[in-house]
Amino acid sequence: MGERPRPEGNGDGEDALAGSPRRPLAKSIELSHSLEELDRIPRPKLLALRRLGIETVEDLLTHFPRRHEDRTEFPHFPHEESDVPICLCGDVIKTSLRRFGGWKKIFEATLQESQANALSEPLVCRWFNLHYVQKMIATGQRLVVFGKPRLRGKRICMDHPEFEVIENDEEISIHFRRITPVYPATEGLSQRVLRSIIYRLLNEISDAELETSAPSSLVQGTRWQAIRAIHFPESWEARDAAREYLVLSEFFAMQMLIASRRFDASTRVGHVHCGSGVLLNKFIKALPFELTGAQVKVIAEIRRDLAARHPMNRLLQGDVGSGKTVVAIAAMLLAIEAGYQAAFMAPTQILAEQHYDVLRGWLEPFGAHIALRTAARQEETGPLPLFDAQGFAASCREQQAGSLCSPERAIPRDEPQSIAPEEPQIVVGTHAVLYENVSFSNLGLVVIDEQHKFGVGQRAKLTSREPAPDVLVMTATPIPRTLTMTIYGDLDVSVIDEMPRNRGRIITAVRDASNLAEVLSFLRTQLEAGHQLYVIYPLIDESEKLDVKAASAEYELWKERLHPYRCELLHGRIPAPEKQEIMERFRRGEANALISTTVIEVGVDVPNATAMLVENAERFGLAQLHQLRGRIGRGGHKSYCILLTSDQQRETSAKLAVLEKTSNGFEVAEADWELRGPGDLLGTAQSGLPALKIGDLKKDADLMRRARAAALAIFEADPGLELPENQRFQRLIVEQQGRTFSNVS
Ligand code: ADP
Ligand code: MG
Repeated sequence: MGERPRPEGNGDGEDALAGSPRRPLAKSIELSHSLEELDRIPRPKLLALRRLGIETVEDLLTHFPRRHEDRTEFPHFPHEESDVPICLCGDVIKTSLRRFGGWKKIFEATLQESQANALSEPLVCRWFNLHYVQKMIATGQRLVVFGKPRLRGKRICMDHPEFEVIENDEEISIHFRRITPVYPATEGLSQRVLRSIIYRLLNEISDAELETSAPSSLVQGTRWQAIRAIHFPESWEARDAAREYLVLSEFFAMQMLIASRRFDASTRVGHVHCGSGVLLNKFIKALPFELTGAQVKVIAEIRRDLAARHPMNRLLQGDVGSGKTVVAIAAMLLAIEAGYQAAFMAPTQILAEQHYDVLRGWLEPFGAHIALRTAARQEETGPLPLFDAQGFAASCREQQAGSLCSPERAIPRDEPQSIAPEEPQIVVGTHAVLYENVSFSNLGLVVIDEQHKFGVGQRAKLTSREPAPDVLVMTATPIPRTLTMTIYGDLDVSVIDEMPRNRGRIITAVRDASNLAEVLSFLRTQLEAGHQLYVIYPLIDESEKLDVKAASAEYELWKERLHPYRCELLHGRIPAPEKQEIMERFRRGEANALISTTVIEVGVDVPNATAMLVENAERFGLAQLHQLRGRIGRGGHKSYCILLTSDQQRETSAKLAVLEKTSNGFEVAEADWELRGPGDLLGTAQSGLPALKIGDLKKDADLMRRARAAALAIFEADPGLELPENQRFQRLIVEQQGRTFSNVS
């Protein structure tokens, strides 16, 4: 519906703004001035503006319209209804006030088109129970109105249009006969008020105040023009061009911040952390499978980084089950072979322990000294005589001359300090424990698994050590590419885009509760074939006080349903050592079914588990469900994921159908993004980047690409931003940093 008509005289404080002639100001207006200083906005409005986060002149000018309304004047009075509101101008030829339903009143004003011809029909504007309107409108006046024309009997009516009497020309030129901005508003602050304040401010601010901050390779024209045009565009094309200008500027500022972080990281002092690869080759030969092409490619990328002097900052993306752990081990072997320590950080206890077991299994034959550090367990394998770090380091140095390993052959290699013999070469742990409680004498490489569980702050803490270790961040959460350019814009990205060949297919099916009997009998066939099964039930938040009773009830129910097969219960409240035992029993096949919350979400690897049932699947996000189903299909068997829903809404089944259709994590991520919007993926605090005011990461992906290219080009040509034309960008970056949530907690 249209907006309220101008509520003049109802104490809204509107007159103060609309009526007062523009007062010449003693001093010129600056962007940083607080709105209070302007001394013309009434107090209640200031408070309402503050609720919108608007305190300064700049805040107000960058309070961008949510959309625009076409209030350009309609060429003639309408003969028909219209679902879109239109703007008309006409003469009041008649007014009337009638009562209805006892005390209610209806006020009507009949308008005639100014150059009326025989065909034009009058328009009846109607207001119900708005006593002040009748005081404002009289026969003989000329009126501009904006609203939806409706057929009422034979008459064409407009109910509660916005209107203005022609005589107040400035008001008309702000609100009517143009493309008009519609703002995000709040209670106590109408569109009219916001529009008026911004309109007047735009007329008063000098263009020098609105400095253009993006390079001319990216945007044309001035920022001042763009800001004016985004609020009060002369045409739709002008509006679109202004929006593009402002989005590009905003993205450019963000990408300059990212590029500067990237540049800072690359100039920090680091060491060469790359051994000769003898150990790595032995490891690869001993693997029970061939590496995929993608794994080989990614290992080579990491190897180049390790061999370079500046610190590695690399993101490794790979769908669940794509084999990231092997890649991480390869990187760690190169580092320890060069005489350094490696840390492997996992988000949860279970994962840390699982990684520890995997690493022991694979690396003990090589005599690597591996330690586990979690809140619950501290243990380590002793070094075996087979392996001699210094010996390898020496052989590495010898082979260096002819090796492909180091692209920086001319640079003399660092002499690693030796690790004391009792110190582990690889330390596996949860990030909390590793970060806070473990001291490393000679840390060369940090691998962070499942990065989405870590904040950017934690990453920053780690990488700020001196000398800087090489950092490899791994994630199985596929991220749409525009987000990668922002959240991880300061990292180099490697992608494992190929699955190991021996993978069984995962078939995903959505069923609702009425199919339960059928589903149960299917699950039993899997158990009868000797396979194992996960049943996942949703618990919104692990840290939330767990209703242990509900979990146990769930468990009892499943024990009955799957009798005589053995079930185990797993949830976040079970103490860690016990959790570990439960997982262990499941891995060994002593339990047939694991009834669990999402604590098994990431990384857990039991190849014999071929079926998964997710209860209340509608309560999970698509990306999370994709992660969950990655727990099955790990062996060569065909696997089945059943998403059981308790609501039968179309939306739910449409959403879940995405998972039935694709097993590609990127496609799932894009669909998830489509459905949820970027909010969930890009918590501003988590991304460590300033919030966007106008750009849309999804809609404007192309503009982001252009802005990023422009920012990188500037840094490449002038890394210190020292050229005269680049110096202004230094300030831009500082400003951006100021708008960022603190990076280090
Ligand atoms: P994720 O990328 O999800 O962390 P993992 O590293 O846990 O995946 O690997 C999943 C499983 O695949 C493990 O059992 C691992 O040993 C196995 N694997 C890894 N690479 C290959 C490969 N090239 N061929 C066959 N199996 C592989
Ligand atoms: Mg993993």
